[in-house]
Amino acid sequence: MTESKYILAGKTLEELEEFVQINNEPKFRAKQLHYWLYKNCVKTFDEMTNLSKGFRNKLKDIAVISANTIKQRFISKDGTIRYLIELADQTVIETVLMRFDHRPNLTACVSSQIGCPVGCIFCATGKMGFIRNLTASEIADQILTIQRDTGLEVTNVVYMGQGEPLLNFDEVAKSIKIITKELEIGNRRITISTSGIIPGIHKLAEENRQLTLALSLHAPNHELRQQLIPIEKKYPLDELVKALHALTHKTGRRVTIEYTLIKDVNDDLKLAKEMNYLLKGLNYNVNLIPYNPTSNDKYQAPSQKRINEFRYILEQSGKKVTVRLERGSDINAACGQLSAQLSTD
Ligand code: SAH
Ligand code: SF4
Repeated sequence: MTESKYILAGKTLEELEEFVQINNEPKFRAKQLHYWLYKNCVKTFDEMTNLSKGFRNKLKDIAVISANTIKQRFISKDGTIRYLIELADQTVIETVLMRFDHRPNLTACVSSQIGCPVGCIFCATGKMGFIRNLTASEIADQILTIQRDTGLEVTNVVYMGQGEPLLNFDEVAKSIKIITKELEIGNRRITISTSGIIPGIHKLAEENRQLTLALSLHAPNHELRQQLIPIEKKYPLDELVKALHALTHKTGRRVTIEYTLIKDVNDDLKLAKEMNYLLKGLNYNVNLIPYNPTSNDKYQAPSQKRINEFRYILEQSGKKVTVRLERGSDINAACGQLSAQLSTD
């Protein structure tokens, strides 16, 4: 049983210091624990070899390294791993580890909520509805769980799993502190993707971090966007673009504009021109995401020819445009496919 025990993974050094002191142990124990949790990612207390046997036994009674259980692991042909992770309260979240050929980076795609309240019409997570927010420790422990499982070091983090990170702002902001400070992954290696929560974008600008904000644009005008992303009704595009300008001015960071291309829905070439116009003067680059199929839906990705044409028009703005290399679509680990499915069929 882990419910009443203290969960160590995902805690800050200060929190660990508090924990050891409450349990009548000297403060330096916290640093030792921190080392084993974050630098060595051990799975058991017995592996924490520089702790006295007495302290290790005490820890077994009062604490657990993590409350996470890996329920399932799907390994894609391209090396991507999709994890189903059960949390202390028996809810299940999804986390994806992506590797790219010829690149040393290992990118963890973390969830910030279970399900999502935004309900974008093309997204499998949106169809699940909203279950609950994740805590900062639960977000950070997704990365540690991968590290404990693979023995590898995660180098990059993207908040592109389940959930809308800016609707869980405080815990997401705290998780970024843990990731940068305890896990020592730099701000520049972190990307937060949002459907466009304007107050959250302003708060993120206040934090003034050198991370990347990715905006899920998906349509360059209010009429079409509100059909795809219901939150557009509350946070309309003209104000959203102003918030992006304010953020780039404050942080000096370029934003990424994500655009999921769906055949006959938002792939008209006129929309590419409209997008260039809408974003004029903004410091951005574009990431086109060909639509990934979700279970029994009616949408499709455009043809390769159409994707190239759309890209070509966007490039006329002088901005860098990439087409996202899809990872793990054979195991439902690609963008928009995360809905805690236990099997891949
Ligand atoms: N909730 C955040 C981040 C998660 S999804 C957001 O919406 O930005 C990461 C990206 O995948 C988002 O741009 C999202 O709109 C996109 N996406 C969702 N469903 C998709 C699908 N079926 N195919 C391709 N991209 C999808
Ligand atoms: Fe939520 Fe993002 Fe999916 Fe929209 S695309 S429903 S915001 S997870």
